[in-house]
Amino acid sequence: MILKKMRFARSQRGNIIVVVGEQRFKRTSGYGMKSWWHCIKRSTKGCSASMSLHGGSVVKYNFQHNH
Ligand SMILES: [Zn+2]
Repeated sequence: MILKKMRFARSQRGNIIVVVGEQRFKRTSGYGMKSWWHCIKRSTKGCSASMSLHGGSVVKYNFQHNH
């Protein structure tokens, strides 16, 4: 799968989020250059889409959304 265009943005609450295509991800944990992100629908819809970043690059991802 070709990685869709990814960009950083801010949520309405001022948190950093990552936007991939139509989907938004929020940071769940991280240290140093590494960080882990989950789909913002994880809590409301149980979506398991996630990814991890190293620096500004995606090193692992699962973009299987259930919504
Ligand atoms: Zn999702």
